[in-house]
Amino acid sequence: MNKVGETTLVLDLSALEHNYKYLRSKIAPETKFLGVVKAFAYGSDMVAIAQKLEELGADYLAVAYASEGVLLRQAGVKLPILVLHPLAANFDDLIAYCLEPSLYSRSILNQFLKAAETQKQQDYPVHIKFNTGLNRLGFSQVDVDFIAEEVKRNASVKIVSTFSHLAASEDGSERAFSLEQIGSFKKSSKALGEKLGYAPMRHMLNTSGIINYAEAQFEMVRSGIGLYGYGNQAEVDASLRPVATLKTVISQIHEIEPNHSVGYNRAFKADKKVKSATLPLGHADGIGRQYGKGKGIVIINGKKAPILGNVCMDMIMVDVTGIDCKEGDEVIVFGPQKSAEAFAAGANTISYEILTAISQRVKRVVKC
Ligand SMILES: *Cc1c(COP(=O)(O)O)cnc(C)c1O
Repeated sequence: MNKVGETTLVLDLSALEHNYKYLRSKIAPETKFLGVVKAFAYGSDMVAIAQKLEELGADYLAVAYASEGVLLRQAGVKLPILVLHPLAANFDDLIAYCLEPSLYSRSILNQFLKAAETQKQQDYPVHIKFNTGLNRLGFSQVDVDFIAEEVKRNASVKIVSTFSHLAASEDGSERAFSLEQIGSFKKSSKALGEKLGYAPMRHMLNTSGIINYAEAQFEMVRSGIGLYGYGNQAEVDASLRPVATLKTVISQIHEIEPNHSVGYNRAFKADKKVKSATLPLGHADGIGRQYGKGKGIVIINGKKAPILGNVCMDMIMVDVTGIDCKEGDEVIVFGPQKSAEAFAAGANTISYEILTAISQRVKRVVKC
């Protein structure tokens, strides 16, 4: 039996390469590709993933916050980095590390112009975010004149792209809404380009957008979850390979007698003889309480072992009744053998959440 010493997130860069090439095959060769590496590259290893994407020929990277971009620069990543959700408090860092802000409101635009001017920047690359229906971040169509006027009389910045984000790209029943968003984005970008006298590149598609609305790829696409091996649709999942495998090990096995209980609050009570295995993995590692009481299922020697009772901070106990296993045996929480999407579905959530939840305490091992 393959033994692992501790809880480990194994990252398979050959799977990342496969997914990158698959997603690239869905768009035109001239369309640029932005790899989204926010949140530690969806809970994996931001630097290792960014460096691999750089090597594979990605054109751009994106993070959510400036601090994430700073980590990439400090690791020597050279690709242009779009910061999706910059805050005015971080503008000086952002400029110092050559990170490119998404400007999404009048006040954030004005504050960035001021920062760029103060720092004597010229043609500093910025991106204009349009809200087309997600109602999260972004300018509306009526702001076009304002944006153009502010940017034209200030030589410190240059708009390199306009972008927007689909609210339901994976949801076929919202096709009409997505098409409306695409139409609105096209209109705003065109109007802004005309006012500026140049045409910034445009991008709108996330992973499911690439799959379902390839006609709206414009000059660039932005993929996150697909790079990590998940496509929000079973047919897409079948073409992708999970990058991350979360493994752990059996620390101890107990024989539980009828009427005895397992874990805090005695949340599992045995009605027959049960064999339990204790694993060094808990809610502090990212396995939330919602996975308790059978909602989370791990794989031990090819067999399913559901979580018994409540998830503890540093441990879970799983039901290994009838499974041939011993202390020291390997446990798979998710990976190619059992997808993170399937693991998450047990607790009514999605791959994005379980992947990004895996805490920094869990050791990362990068496999080339
Ligand atoms: C996170 C994010 C993405 C990536 O979406 P996926 O569904 O993971 O491909 C793209 N664009 C924006 C604006 C995002 O916030």
